[in-house]
Amino acid sequence: MAQSDTKKIFFENLSGAGKAIAVLTSGGDAQGMNAAVRAVVRMGLYVGAKVYFICEGYQGMVDGEENITEATWESVSSMLQVGGTVIGSARCKDFRTHEGRLKAALNLVKLGITNLCVIGGDGSLTGANLFREEWSGLLAELVEQGSIEDQSVQNYSALHIVGMVGSIDNDFCGTDMTIGTDSALHRIIEVVDAIMTTAQSHQRTFVLEVMGRHCGYLALVSALACGADWVLIPEMPPEDGWEEKMCQKLSANRAGMKRLNIIIVAEGAIDRNNKPITTDCIKDLVVKCLGFDTRVTILGHVQRGGTPSAFDRILASRMGVEAVLALLETTANTPACVVSLSGNQSVRLPLMECVQMTQEVQKAMDEKKFEEAVKLRGRSFENNLRTYKLLAHRKPESELPTSNFNVAVLNVGAPAAGMNAAVRSAVRVGISEGHKMFAVNDGFEGFYKGQIKEIKWSDVGGWTGQGGSLLGTKRTLPAKHVDKIAEQMRTHNINALLVIGGFETCDRIKQSASGTKRRVFIIETMGGYCGYLATVAGLAAGADAAYIYEEPFDIRDLQANVEHLTEKMKTSIQRGLVLRNENSNENYTTDFIYQLYTEEGKGVFDCRKNVLGHMQQGGAPSPFDRNFGTKISAKAMQWVTKKLLETFRQGRVFANTEDSCCLLGMRRRALIFQPVVQLKGETDFVHRIPKEQWWLKLRPLMKILAKYKTSYDVSDSGQLEHVVHNRPKDSDASVAM
Ligand code: ADP
Repeated sequence: MAQSDTKKIFFENLSGAGKAIAVLTSGGDAQGMNAAVRAVVRMGLYVGAKVYFICEGYQGMVDGEENITEATWESVSSMLQVGGTVIGSARCKDFRTHEGRLKAALNLVKLGITNLCVIGGDGSLTGANLFREEWSGLLAELVEQGSIEDQSVQNYSALHIVGMVGSIDNDFCGTDMTIGTDSALHRIIEVVDAIMTTAQSHQRTFVLEVMGRHCGYLALVSALACGADWVLIPEMPPEDGWEEKMCQKLSANRAGMKRLNIIIVAEGAIDRNNKPITTDCIKDLVVKCLGFDTRVTILGHVQRGGTPSAFDRILASRMGVEAVLALLETTANTPACVVSLSGNQSVRLPLMECVQMTQEVQKAMDEKKFEEAVKLRGRSFENNLRTYKLLAHRKPESELPTSNFNVAVLNVGAPAAGMNAAVRSAVRVGISEGHKMFAVNDGFEGFYKGQIKEIKWSDVGGWTGQGGSLLGTKRTLPAKHVDKIAEQMRTHNINALLVIGGFETCDRIKQSASGTKRRVFIIETMGGYCGYLATVAGLAAGADAAYIYEEPFDIRDLQANVEHLTEKMKTSIQRGLVLRNENSNENYTTDFIYQLYTEEGKGVFDCRKNVLGHMQQGGAPSPFDRNFGTKISAKAMQWVTKKLLETFRQGRVFANTEDSCCLLGMRRRALIFQPVVQLKGETDFVHRIPKEQWWLKLRPLMKILAKYKTSYDVSDSGQLEHVVHNRPKDSDASVAM
């Protein structure tokens, strides 16, 4: 029997009956914590366990009483889209003392709670681990005091702990993304975009401080996402003499028609002697050396605020479900674990190994071993740093290699947010590698008509934040015009072609439904035949159903969904959200579904429908898309260079092997170049989708969280992995960035 089958069956037998799980949020709040709490509660109830909220973090656990209350399905309704943490968080001195932890243990034993799900940063998780290690000692003490019976010690002999990292800083080793980071990036990018317009008008320099006392992730990734002129982070302090270099760079950029400069500084930025570099000293420097009009903006708590991004909601929901599974599977001998994200996979890692690793980064920085600090942060962090340097620092022409290769870039298909970031990255990486870069306008249509010309470094300045496709894109397929395209390639002596686009390029969609009572919203999403948007938007918004082409549905399903909603209206949650992919079924149209629900819901609920349409392709790209576009394209360009060199013989490039035409994409944890020929067999050309869609496994999750009974294949979740050096954050495919 395949391993996945074993696991699936195992899950069906996995029951939480007789168990009590408590969930708490601790330390600094982060957007998405509520989604995690909701998922723990609903998954816990789904498997038959009792679930408790512990309010106000460890303080509530120490104080007990009304701070620990039983959770119901309805009690976590309307939480998904709320920022911060509804159940409260605190920094708690008492829990750092033995006395405090003794009180906390008593409060848990009184309610029979032996499973604890902690959402917080490394401090909170360290506390949790300590508590678990002390548990049997604490119980013995409680018996001695006469606070509990001997029997309780036997009944509640082991405390199981699982952690989820909620921290906007993304400062935890072991997970690609911590809950809250993506939302914080959204806030930062919103501010940067806003500031850019005013800076542009007045030719100003902005020095922007972002959070991260010990971790430069937010600063680095924001710098990548907005193409900042300079970035300062604690892990990699600038070389001595940086002040002069920075000023040179700023004035060079201004001379190159740029009307503004952005400098991003992490809260904890330091120089090589561990001396803080503050925003004010940077401002003074710029004013003194260059006389530029310079302003400082400190973002502060804005970064923690606002609604969680779709990514954080999905991440936290997946983690919450996984956390409950981890608790059910824990035995007395399993070490406490954190559930985390690697590539697009959830994994479990030993909590203390991750905490230690995280602390090692700090130690390396304290000891001025900066190279090591960057390494310890993991491959994805290193890759961010490398890519930033590559794209932001233009080498003088005289220092550039000359490859004698010409490479063209074009966009095809529907415009998608992030395409411009990808073009910018390809052009700049290509130039750095010594190629002459060409831009093709209007996709293959423009190509055969000869709309092609050289594109330079400064032509793509400021492209990361722009929506749509600046090169222009068309859906025209190349097949009919292959001869003319070949002629253009010959005329311009193009050695390689980078095509950015796809069947249907999808950005994630932010969707939230709240409002009037007894109302069901029916929303149509785009995606061609691909149900990805409908599914993940469903997960992010807590939908009751999401109809997609890949999972056929019939009248019985529609009936079950209507009945489900009718039942739901009897509870305190009197709202419904139904998503429908535009091509999910040719007869069960959005209008049909709207009319069916309206008719069947008469007297119980009413309906509204909304077709989102092209709004979904518009707008500025999210930080995810900017960075993903940038990094994936840099990787593609480097691959192109390698292939060109490999196949160059006697003045010619030979592109006659399978792998001379590849698609770069993410598979599980890795970015893979796959020959397009091989993809043929894996593609459903009629519907323009892959035959196998990885995200389909997220659908049961959405159903469970919407209170449907379904079987959940846990074959991908789970196994406890070990943290070895460079394993954490090592998926350079990091889903997020
Ligand atoms: P974060 O979890 O965001 O890193 P803190 O480090 O402030 O935030 O930790 C949050 C809370 O976790 C602390 O107020 C304390 O109650 C508890 N905690 C942190 N470290 C420990 C520890 N070593 N022992 C016991 N409790 C701890």
